[in-house]
Amino acid sequence: MGLAAVRERVKKVQDANKFASEMTSIIAVSKMQNISRITNVLDEGHRCFGENRVQEASNKWPALFKIYDGIELHLIGPLQTNKARQAMSLFQAIHSVDRPKLSNTIARLAQETGNCPDIFIQINTGYEPQKAGILPSDADPFIKECRSLDLPLKGLMCIPPEQEAPAKHFKLLVTIAEANGLSGLSMGMSGDFETAVAFGATYVRIGSAIFGSRLPEEAQ
Ligand SMILES: *Cc1c(COP(=O)(O)O)cnc(C)c1O
Repeated sequence: MGLAAVRERVKKVQDANKFASEMTSIIAVSKMQNISRITNVLDEGHRCFGENRVQEASNKWPALFKIYDGIELHLIGPLQTNKARQAMSLFQAIHSVDRPKLSNTIARLAQETGNCPDIFIQINTGYEPQKAGILPSDADPFIKECRSLDLPLKGLMCIPPEQEAPAKHFKLLVTIAEANGLSGLSMGMSGDFETAVAFGATYVRIGSAIFGSRLPEEAQ
């Protein structure tokens, strides 16, 4: 599909849906992509990227920061507390805050360094046991807790169950966000971003539709 086509589709859905946000940012998810694919997208003028692993991101991006100005990097995958410090110096936003131990660690490091990325709480909208995220029934108190830690909490993130229609999960995320006065909605991937935009996504996280299929390690 490519970046230009994705942009066009996002715009089309925005124009056609009254619940769509006027500002939907496209996070180009560059995990498991090689440098030449990434620089192609940078050379198209795009600056907003996502990675799901701290280690992989820290291998790839510092060199690109030296060549391209204004890159904004989002962490969209699980974060271990022992990688939090590294993540906070590399990413402008963390979309995967999903437990008190992590929010407490981030808050402590933010106090220490005076720097904190934008925070999104991941919600496990499908109550999937194997999936990360705060359960919807636990969301309100966890959001309050994050606020009491003075974290720059911007919104919520979800990954709908693979086998289900995504709409009801996006809708649930919107409901929880509205009930808590949060405007950021990180939802929608290559297969379902148009639905997510129609429901008001402010960030869509799109990998394969922009870059092509992810590559095996030896080809990255
Ligand atoms: C990999 C990934 C994406 C992008 O997936 P595509 O289907 O390639 O668009 C989005 N969100 C998260 C959390 C991911 O890990």
